Amino acid sequence: MFALGGKDFRRESFVEFAEEIVHDSRDRELGMHRKITRRDFLNGIAMTAGAALMPWDLSAAGLGEEGQSPSLEKSPNYYPPALTGMRGSHPGSFDAAHSLRDGTFWDAAGKPKDTGETYDLIIVGGGISGLSAAHFYRKATGGKARILILDNHDDFGGHAKRNEFRVNNAFRVGYGGTYAIESPAPYSAIAKGVIQELGIDVPSYSQYLDGKLYRSLGMRSSIFFDKETFGADRLVVSLPTFGGGEKEYIASDNPEVWKQLQAEAPIAEQAKRDLERLHHEQVDYFPGQSSEEKKAKLARMSYAVFLKDIVKVHEDVIKLYQAVLQPTFGLGIDAISAQDGWGEDLPGFKGLSLDPTPGKGMNRDAIPNEEADKYFFHFPDGNATIARLLVRKLIPDAIPGEYPSDVVLAKANYAKLDDSGSPVRIRLNSTAVRVNHLGDAASAKEVEVTYACGGKIYSAKAKNSILACWHVVIPYICEELPDKQKEALASAQKVPLLYTNVLLGNWTSFQKLGANAVYAPGCYHTRFNLDHPVSIGGYQCARKPEEPIVVHMMKTPCHPGRPARVQHSMGRMELYTTTFETMERNIRDQLARTLGPGGFDPARDIAAITVNRWPHGYAYEYNSLFDSFWLEGGETPCEVARQPHGRIAIANADAGAYAYTDEAINQAYRAVGEITKS
Ligand SMILES: Cc1cc2nc3c(=O)[nH]c(=O)nc-3n(C[C@H](O)[C@H](O)[C@H](O)COP(=O)(O)OP(=O)(O)OC[C@H]3O[C@@H](n4cnc5c(N)ncnc54)[C@H](O)[C@@H]3O)c2cc1C
Repeated sequence: MFALGGKDFRRESFVEFAEEIVHDSRDRELGMHRKITRRDFLNGIAMTAGAALMPWDLSAAGLGEEGQSPSLEKSPNYYPPALTGMRGSHPGSFDAAHSLRDGTFWDAAGKPKDTGETYDLIIVGGGISGLSAAHFYRKATGGKARILILDNHDDFGGHAKRNEFRVNNAFRVGYGGTYAIESPAPYSAIAKGVIQELGIDVPSYSQYLDGKLYRSLGMRSSIFFDKETFGADRLVVSLPTFGGGEKEYIASDNPEVWKQLQAEAPIAEQAKRDLERLHHEQVDYFPGQSSEEKKAKLARMSYAVFLKDIVKVHEDVIKLYQAVLQPTFGLGIDAISAQDGWGEDLPGFKGLSLDPTPGKGMNRDAIPNEEADKYFFHFPDGNATIARLLVRKLIPDAIPGEYPSDVVLAKANYAKLDDSGSPVRIRLNSTAVRVNHLGDAASAKEVEVTYACGGKIYSAKAKNSILACWHVVIPYICEELPDKQKEALASAQKVPLLYTNVLLGNWTSFQKLGANAVYAPGCYHTRFNLDHPVSIGGYQCARKPEEPIVVHMMKTPCHPGRPARVQHSMGRMELYTTTFETMERNIRDQLARTLGPGGFDPARDIAAITVNRWPHGYAYEYNSLFDSFWLEGGETPCEVARQPHGRIAIANADAGAYAYTDEAINQAYRAVGEITKS
């Protein structure tokens, strides 16, 4: 027992007490007590004295039309892009779907209220696939078609979302999900056609990008070695192999950079020699075997195993590479095949003399394509611009303006999204809970769609329905589908991701340290970078280190050593159960430790935080380590999953098992074709 300040403490409680003091003082250093916008919109919900209210007035719940579901979007304050805190799959967006999954939804749901509405088409899912489906359907059937789009989120666009920030007189936009028009394979004529119809001139991109900005300020990509993983906190110049921002800013692979890395990286001496060997030695590890045989071997072992057992590098090298492909695959190198590592240009394969054609079972992301590489455009809000341009086409009053450039600053009028005067209506905060034919699927004339909104359920009818939502949801809402199809739909595990945007008052610390992008394989967010410097249509990016800027941070919650789908499922659970407070503490701590030597003070410099949580992120792409049909050949689950059923067709990027915007568009086109061909 100890006596402290006149108080007696048992030993354990003293230790706890001391830990609490240390914890509290670290929290103060990090600025956890500072008032930033997340305080006002904690977890995306405004906190007022003891009550949790949406930032817009709840009395707006009465704003729906007579006999219809409530329309929060009609509240004058309704403007989701400006919300901070927990966004992406925000609180309130998934309760109905999770209750369906858990089998509890219908216990308390009551009887649906018939809105009396009938449409030509009801689309479930307001992402790029759902919006494109509406666009294609109108083209196929004429501009008068009546279409209702339902989405469970408070904003449209699906993964293609935008985050807005205002600080002092500056206005900054960040991407909350989909980053750019880019795809590992060339865009199809259909997807390219939509981009052109929207007026986006992809080849003009270089006009808007200040490609020399960070270089001109002496900045390049760096690696942060953290003390928990590597024994010391240290920021060191990077190599091209670790990526980091766009190619303009990646550090070069010259002897000077190697010397610096070797001198400063806190890794074992053996690891330094192995890193050099891995990059520069040309060894044929499988002598006497053909290129095809070698690729077949590489397709069946992970890159981590290749490094450990074939190249036999020190474990520090494996730790260093662990997160290198996370942005693309949402997995560490323990779950990515060595063949895909080869395709992604990771080191170690030079001596194998592999012929450049793709090997069997290669992930489509790992197959290099020059034409596809050139087709790139990043708007400040990423592909939210595509979603906004599609909405402008469908409901012109909702997004003012005329050109793709003016859309960047255009303020969406959410009150116009679900307007009875408009042939196309987008109904947000509405989760489809049941989609069924009225009668037998083969002969029915109508489909009924039941949806949950504001704690009640409603139904509307249509001639057809397109399910452009996540495939894992479909078996729960469309029970009449064949079992084999439901099983295939359920196998489309989504890849969980966090896309965090942190608004900083300035970026002088980045400049002092000479880093614009940081790869941090052992940290909570394994990458972060200064906003991509794009100015377009009156929107100006930050050019001076003294100006506010958005820092983009990325995390994929992996659970190394397990099969890909298990890792995704565990990661999804992790994202749903981690509080915003924990995420914020991790963000502040990571930025402080990385940038502190450059003068960064998280308590002073962080002005706002928006965490875009995507437990259901990228579409699952097939992987030669875990999906034998992909390696050996055979029917893929997505082909089974996307079969039309009566008047119901199935879209979404999941339908192509390909996590890109072009696929969301391609699959919408196919689905519309299926319901309009007769
Ligand atoms: C973080 C992130 C970054 C990405 N970056 C890129 C990139 O740079 N370039 C690129 O090309 N692609 C990128 N992708 C992939 C790309 O965003 C997607 O392939 C594409 O946007 C998918 O569009 P979608 O309409 O098929 O699906 P989604 O965008 O997921 O839209 C489906 C919508 O359906 C809704 N929904 C689900 N269930 C229901 C229900 N029961 N009722 C109502 N609505 C429902 C969902 O909430 C969602 O809003 C990224 C994806 C993520 C997650």
